[in-house]
Amino acid sequence: MKSFINDKKILEYLSNALPPDAEEIDTILNHAKELKGISFEEAERLLLVESKEDIDKLSDTANFIKESIYGKRLVLFAPLYVSNICNNECLYCGFRKSNKSIVRNTLTMEQISAETEALIDQGHKRVLLVSGEGLGKNAIDYTIDALKTIYAVKKPKGNIRRINVNIAASEVEDYKRLKEANIGTYQLFQETYHEETYKKMHRSGPKANYEYHLTAMDRAMEAGIDDVGIGILFGLADYKYEIMALLQHIKHLEDKFGVGPHTISVPRLEPATGSDIASNPPFPVTDSDFRKIIAILRITVPYTGIILSTRENAEMRREALHLGISQISAGSKSDPGGYSKKDHSDAQFSLGDHRSLHEVIEDIVDMDHIPSFCTGCYRLGRVGKDFMDLAKPGLIKAHCYPNAVFTFAEYLEDFANETLKKKGYELILRTLPENVIDPKKREAVLKNVEEIKNGKRDIYY
Ligand code: SAM
Ligand code: SF4
Repeated sequence: MKSFINDKKILEYLSNALPPDAEEIDTILNHAKELKGISFEEAERLLLVESKEDIDKLSDTANFIKESIYGKRLVLFAPLYVSNICNNECLYCGFRKSNKSIVRNTLTMEQISAETEALIDQGHKRVLLVSGEGLGKNAIDYTIDALKTIYAVKKPKGNIRRINVNIAASEVEDYKRLKEANIGTYQLFQETYHEETYKKMHRSGPKANYEYHLTAMDRAMEAGIDDVGIGILFGLADYKYEIMALLQHIKHLEDKFGVGPHTISVPRLEPATGSDIASNPPFPVTDSDFRKIIAILRITVPYTGIILSTRENAEMRREALHLGISQISAGSKSDPGGYSKKDHSDAQFSLGDHRSLHEVIEDIVDMDHIPSFCTGCYRLGRVGKDFMDLAKPGLIKAHCYPNAVFTFAEYLEDFANETLKKKGYELILRTLPENVIDPKKREAVLKNVEEIKNGKRDIYY
């Protein structure tokens, strides 16, 4: 396949284009406020915005879009690392093959069950299965067994309802099998779209093949996987280059499959054992750049989920909420078996936010947002293009908000202390009128909340 990344076009633009003036910025942002997204050319113009004042304008617009489309809710999930064995030599990662300072481990199905139980006991309902690339020929069989194992764990206070998967680039046949095994979103980050940098950063192993990695989502979508999640590891190359290339990737998927990615992840490089590059990124992304990146993505692709992990500290995660982040991980461990043990020296990278799920939820509530564990869309088949068709006319909020409330009420009943319970139900009552306009629908939401208080579970629209 001919590469869909037009390197020359990006480089020419970045060396020749002048930043937009105030009038141009306002025109683009007014267009954005119509909630239909902006053109990728307009997004490229916003990338050149530099002053604090202008970045603040971008942030305000992103916040407006986020609240108009999704309402005040934030989806929560936890990563479940199943293996840190890896045959690749990604210079930034603690799991890379040559790193002798971590103990290697692939979880057995019993251990995966134990990890799942620990996550359910925290209150989680959504998991992201993550693995190094060292499982060889059995990788897909193992992953399918792991999916079955996780879905099979049922506890009195719940079960995992959706498993997203972040594993190595694979073949169409493999993706078909994963789809049959009921995976949620298939995630794979390009890390860097800049080919020369990619080759420098990925020294050996299957992942060293830039083109094979770049075309993974084509194969996943060809195999019928509806929701794919892409991402950039910020710090490896110029972020402006990366965003322009990411937009080309999105356009390619939209043109070919009629729908773009379901999510975009925005990890920034964090220190990892024995990795100079992870501690000294060649192209560090400052907090101010990072805010700009998140705001531009929210403005440009308003219907795509944007995911932030616990790599970021609590303060940045709070701020990012207002810029349009729609999903965050919480209470995370990045080492296999991490939820069932105390020593975390075998982690992939350092975490910036060590707070428990409970603490993160308290914080979200204090910011007047409803923490959500919702999996309604996926389970009702609102995925891929169907999701976008519903989301684009602005109809998704009618589902998101009530479903967020139902899953939050479950959390309050099953896991919260009395203080959080009181605050949580007050928040629901306070935010209901602005999020559910129709009084009849409001009544229905409250009736369902009462049913949850009386023991009913797993209500969704
Ligand atoms: N092995 C698979 C792969 O590389 O695609 C999936 C799992 S890998 C553990 C998940 C992601 O972790 C990578 O795609 C990369 O973006 C991220 N990562 C690796 N090292 C990191 C670091 N030092 N800081 C932040 N993120 C990192
Ligand atoms: Fe292995 Fe993925 Fe880490 Fe690369 S990023 S070393 S493929 S786990």
